[in-house]
Amino acid sequence: MEAAFLLDKFIFLLFFLIIYNTSMLKILYKGEDAGRVKKDIQKAFDFVAKIFPVKISNITVCVHNTRASYGKKLNKETEDWNIANANDNNRIDILSPEALLKESCHPKSDFLPTLTHEFSHLFAFRLAKGGAIPLWLNEGLSEYLAKQDQKVQGVLYIENNFCEKLGTMKGWDKYINYSAYQISALFVLFLIKKYSIEKIKELISSLDKVYYYPRFEKIFFKVYGKDLNETEKLFIDSINKNK
Ligand SMILES: [Zn+2]
Repeated sequence: MEAAFLLDKFIFLLFFLIIYNTSMLKILYKGEDAGRVKKDIQKAFDFVAKIFPVKISNITVCVHNTRASYGKKLNKETEDWNIANANDNNRIDILSPEALLKESCHPKSDFLPTLTHEFSHLFAFRLAKGGAIPLWLNEGLSEYLAKQDQKVQGVLYIENNFCEKLGTMKGWDKYINYSAYQISALFVLFLIKKYSIEKIKELISSLDKVYYYPRFEKIFFKVYGKDLNETEKLFIDSINKNK
């Protein structure tokens, strides 16, 4: 009797969790592969949601069948590498796997990691509580969680004070064609391996509303007990040691 009662409670809890979990996501997509696409979206969401200590209850994911529809939503012409976007209204726009194949330089298999990357942006925004996240930290963490850019491909050129240079939109745009994503991903990977992912989360939740590099250096020091510039040098040493 008691076991049956507990089982009832367990089933109720299970249903509640399933409904609670799926209700966090609104998926807009029409296509023959809708079942698989929705499964991938849920999988990426579940993976990222487990990592961040914050909840987001109103995410919309819009999957576009064509680049024209994607560009129209973003209100701009998009280049063939641009396949997804996350905005601060908790919305993700992404090309469908078929559209990736036909209208991008990415393979279909990039659909799931790209979703993981974009969900990571949404959760990082929420964790920052209105704080401005330096670009290298935001992109680097998204790349890390999506398991993208984790290895040095060929040789790499890194400038001194790269965190300062890759922190702002202006700097990011300047260096985007000069391994900005890769340097950011490798540096975040280094920080996580050396000091843990908890420290990265602590750093993101400690940021100011207005990003200003000298202030960021102080916040970094407070969280890590290390000078940012010295940490950058340790990172370069670690890459060269693994040659
Ligand atoms: Zn990104």
